[in-house]
Amino acid sequence: MSREAFRIGGVDVPAGTRRALELPIARLPHGAMAALPCVVVHGARPGPAVFITGAVHGDELTGVEVARRVLAQVRARDLHGTLVAVPMVNVFGVTEGSRFLPDRRDLNRSFPGSERGSLAGRLAHMVMTEIVAPCQVGIDVHSGSDHRHNLPQVRGDLDDPRTRELADIFGAPISIHARERSGSLRGEAAARGKKVLLYEAGGPHLFDPHAVDVGVAGVLRVLGALDMINASPIDHRTHPRISRRTLWTRALRGGLFRVETRLGARVRKGQALGTISDVMGHRLARVKAREGGVVVGLRMNPVVFQGDALVHVAVLEEPASSAGKRGAKVGGAVSTPAAPAPFRPQASDPEEARPPRDDGSHEGDA
Ligand SMILES: [Zn+2]
Repeated sequence: MSREAFRIGGVDVPAGTRRALELPIARLPHGAMAALPCVVVHGARPGPAVFITGAVHGDELTGVEVARRVLAQVRARDLHGTLVAVPMVNVFGVTEGSRFLPDRRDLNRSFPGSERGSLAGRLAHMVMTEIVAPCQVGIDVHSGSDHRHNLPQVRGDLDDPRTRELADIFGAPISIHARERSGSLRGEAAARGKKVLLYEAGGPHLFDPHAVDVGVAGVLRVLGALDMINASPIDHRTHPRISRRTLWTRALRGGLFRVETRLGARVRKGQALGTISDVMGHRLARVKAREGGVVVGLRMNPVVFQGDALVHVAVLEEPASSAGKRGAKVGGAVSTPAAPAPFRPQASDPEEARPPRDDGSHEGDA
């Protein structure tokens, strides 16, 4: 039995082998060729093809480390199927420490791209044709952006049964239903029938150990569930919490933000999550939860402008059977404050006087 080679960038990767490649993207102004580094592990045995992508946003590095550690655990001779890893998609942004490309475009709004388009469009097109097209399943890894850190979370179209199943298997502390955004890698891959999870965890410009650990375990669980690897070393199936609605609390005025909650915390509607003060420390406003739920995103830089997104709360979909489990741990963080202060609306509080617009936006999203 001989399995066909996997063809990528004009190169044949024989079954049962691993190959690192650099796919040429474009020449830089000084003449060097910018290339897309990828690793193909083409298993000796047949099975599905799965891609894992990181750093589509150049400042979001979680996926770089997740891909490296997953690759370290997958051997071509044992693998059923094919793993295509692109740890650093936006090589330009990574070099500049930026979310964007040198053409100032957001790569994750540039899919599916085109061969003769902008630099972002060309890179997007290459990813679609070389990486996404031959795969059936994909995991795109992101981090919080712009001083925001995220609780490890999977985002996907949870109304699609297969995607929901994969999200459950991935087992992040929370799965958030998010429709595909057109122009995104996930959206355009899904439009081509691929099942894609977006794993979002940690903050920009760092390898957050917990974010990486949860991501590696999740990817390996998915590969195990697809019968690509022997997943026996992977622990039990998890039961992630589900959210279909998330809300940001924004700064109603500029100042210095002091956080009084943490990622994974269970919060009640109206609960104080922090304060905004002036330079001398005088409190200007309290920052309160707009709904009860789990803190899934948090601004870490205390210097805030009016309108900045500060705390992201995911409203949980509570299965009837878990109603008694409120206050359980989420993502390793204490989820119920030991002594929650009673909530007292204050008429003079600008948070109360003018609640933020509920735009349902996912700041820092893919
Ligand atoms: Zn991102």
